[in-house]
Amino acid sequence: MVQDFGLFIGGKWRKSEGKRFETRNPATGDVLATFPNATKAEVNEAVKAAKAAFEKWKKTPAPRRGELLLQAARIFKRKKEDLARIVTMEMGKIIAEGRGDVQEVIDFYEYAAGEGRRMFGETVPSELPNKMCLTVRLPVGPVGLITPWNFPMAIPGWKSGAALVAGCSFVLKPSSLTPLCAAKFVEVLDEAGFPTGVVNMLTGSGSVVGDGIIQHPDIRAVSFTGGVETGRYVYESAAKKMIKVGLELGGKNAIIAMDDANIDLLMDGVMFGAFGTAGQRCTAASRLIVHRKIYDQVVDELVERAEKLKVGDPLDEKVDMGPVASPDQEKKTLEYIGVGKKEGDKLLVGGERLKGGAYDNGFFVQPTAFAVDRKARLALEEIFGPVLSVLKAKDYEDAVAIANSVKYGLSSSIYTNDLRWSFRAMHDLEAGITYVNAPTIGAEVQLPFGGTKETGPTDTREAGTTALDEFTYWKTVYVDYSGRLQKAQIDTEKLVGG
Ligand code: NDP
Repeated sequence: MVQDFGLFIGGKWRKSEGKRFETRNPATGDVLATFPNATKAEVNEAVKAAKAAFEKWKKTPAPRRGELLLQAARIFKRKKEDLARIVTMEMGKIIAEGRGDVQEVIDFYEYAAGEGRRMFGETVPSELPNKMCLTVRLPVGPVGLITPWNFPMAIPGWKSGAALVAGCSFVLKPSSLTPLCAAKFVEVLDEAGFPTGVVNMLTGSGSVVGDGIIQHPDIRAVSFTGGVETGRYVYESAAKKMIKVGLELGGKNAIIAMDDANIDLLMDGVMFGAFGTAGQRCTAASRLIVHRKIYDQVVDELVERAEKLKVGDPLDEKVDMGPVASPDQEKKTLEYIGVGKKEGDKLLVGGERLKGGAYDNGFFVQPTAFAVDRKARLALEEIFGPVLSVLKAKDYEDAVAIANSVKYGLSSSIYTNDLRWSFRAMHDLEAGITYVNAPTIGAEVQLPFGGTKETGPTDTREAGTTALDEFTYWKTVYVDYSGRLQKAQIDTEKLVGG
């Protein structure tokens, strides 16, 4: 039965005045649930609830906040399989990846829970006697979390885990393609027992609900993951309001294959990196830059392997790749395939929408690869679908120049057994993440995640201890226990050599 959800405001599921929309399974076209487009007034109510809750939540000791995160992690664990199936049904990634999406929340909530007992500041010596100096992190206030559809549990998990342990209340606005995942996510937090108003969720369009959250005067920071153009708007809006903003935007990630690479290992990584989640990961390997000496061999292997990939029902454990997430995703992917064909790129494999039988109910595109020139649009623009662009490089320097020629800078990878290339790549590749002998995907929650250039203009990082930076500010504290007025920079003269 199709469930009609409301909005989660102030610890309760509430009816909305807004028009309803449906969320559908991209493999079958079935309606899964309906959600409201929150109104402006409802945005105000959610922020009001978050603001009221913040005053108490920030005073809750951080270890206690961490305990609630741990409690939530336990519930996510218990419900993992059910939640994974919902991820797969609503977003279309294969079930193994659906489980991975939920596991990322479990991992990060467990990690963030521990942060409640650390959240270290510093003690720093004073230049004056009987005086102590230290730094502490403090929560910025109620925050807005705006998330995309491609990791519909993991991304809300990363953002909310860090916000909660830092002491911030939040209003989450998930992608309109995956509200059901967000609703199930929020149900877990509700069951875990976060105080009323700490967790709020609104569904509805980015331009009304997302923007309404950002513009609200009581929202003190926004953490946004999505496309570059939306990110630019969010960045400008936050700047006008003079609030903190964290941006995780698009990618055009490259795997470099050097002539000494282990080809089997490389091809395993290429298939996973390019066609995992049907190429719809921000860290997907959408470019393969191959040393000229192994180019022909790599292309032959790529074609052979891509032709064998089984595309179909993402709930079927034997399927390698599911549908793309929506009609718009399908349209955009097919348009780019059209661009490749029109601009004279050489189609190596795939290149068509899959048709007939169950394929006709969903949005299935063949795993596709083109051999492209380094100036081609397919070599430079984010496609966000199962389309890999293969480029030939003369040598290491040429490969790095191609890798760095895009406006994005999220993830990167090099396959080589030569220590020199791997260490040089670590420094030379303009990206927030570099993998050696592994594809561009595979982030772990205890390390910082994020990019440079247009992927990450705010230089914020999710995950790792750096995740707290988005949601806290530093307070410097001076404690003078000398019992008299001591003047920094002035009284110090008397102390020299004293
Ligand atoms: P979008 O930028 O279209 O949307 C992201 C979120 O922003 C959605 O919740 C959307 O709501 C909302 N939104 C849209 N317009 C506005 C607005 N004017 N003000 C506030 N919020 C708004 O991205 P997608 O959801 O299509 O996600 C795909 C993109 O995300 C890709 O470019 C991908 O590379 C990037 N991404 C980056 C990651 C990273 O860590 N660097 C990780 C994952 C994805 P609605 O759905 O209602 O339109």
